[in-house]
Amino acid sequence: MKITAIRVYQIDLPLHEGSYKWSGGNAVSVFDSTVVEVETDAGITGWGEVCPLGPAYLPAYAAGARAGIVELAPHLIGADPTALGTLNDRMDSAMRGHPYVKSAIDMACWDILGKVSGLPVATLMGGRVGDDFALYRAISQDSPERMAERIGEYREAGYRKFQLKVGGDPDTDIDRIRAAARVLERGDVLVADANTGWTQHAAVRIADAVRDVDVYLEQPCRTYEECLAVRQHTNRPFVLDEVIDGIDMVVRGARDGAMDVINLKISKVGGLTKARQIRDLCVSLGLAMTIEDTPTIIPMILCRVFDASARETRAKAANNGATRERATTAATKKMATAKKAGAAKKTTAAKTSVNRSAAKRSRARPETAPR
Ligand SMILES: [Mg+2]
Repeated sequence: MKITAIRVYQIDLPLHEGSYKWSGGNAVSVFDSTVVEVETDAGITGWGEVCPLGPAYLPAYAAGARAGIVELAPHLIGADPTALGTLNDRMDSAMRGHPYVKSAIDMACWDILGKVSGLPVATLMGGRVGDDFALYRAISQDSPERMAERIGEYREAGYRKFQLKVGGDPDTDIDRIRAAARVLERGDVLVADANTGWTQHAAVRIADAVRDVDVYLEQPCRTYEECLAVRQHTNRPFVLDEVIDGIDMVVRGARDGAMDVINLKISKVGGLTKARQIRDLCVSLGLAMTIEDTPTIIPMILCRVFDASARETRAKAANNGATRERATTAATKKMATAKKAGAAKKTTAAKTSVNRSAAKRSRARPETAPR
């Protein structure tokens, strides 16, 4: 089997809640997503997607994803999409770095492999464990009172795990964490995610101020070294996210005892192939994971598939929230919408193309998702 064409589509995904705010004054109201279609000479087509959270969150941005795929695609025409290791080698040889560019192509090729083999991707990646898992709910940055209120609202919707977006003024963040903790019920899980927004000294101060609160601290500072210093100071369970950008950082963090949990974002590490390596390493090391990615169409489905193949114990520790059915149903609808948008432009060139206008017609609405 050979890849004969790669097409790229742009789709806007406005948020239900209007905007999503996190550290550093960052906010997004519409997610700019990129859907990739990989066509083969066997008549089988695979779909992938990547959706950076604006240009200021990770070293990734939406237009860059599309430009990168257009740059990379000619190197992949003629390649076997079912040979995922070889395909990833080919991508890495043709383009250094830029894992988010490669992730959508890798994802689409896993889709092809699943279709060719007649097996779910979960089976191909090691097999499912369990029938269900919980999602968590990110709580956009707001006043301490409003964020605490949100916990009750989201619990009503079925969530039991809540991720507070902090990373702002230290005193306000202490208030946010304490206000949220006051409304927790037995069985709830609270994570305070600073998204790199605290300086090291502020993070140490905040960690001290919440020593008696049942809360996880996530990615307090920008660099690994700063986070490690905070980790060594606090007694709170600790999550690393933004700095875990590849398997080498997992190895380094495990060696240093730098975290209890990592957030494994599929696009951040280059796709399912590389995420699987990290997943397997974490399972072997006993490190919990939150498998997550941008609130897009395809990863919402894939995250579920992917996580189901990890150990149940890890999955329980790793995932936050609930309402799986609702998320999956919504994701399926959105995928159908995206396919429709793609089908509207079948006249695209044989190699690569970026289609904005067709996707503009489709405005699926994702819920605020974890970061
Ligand atoms: Mg995070």
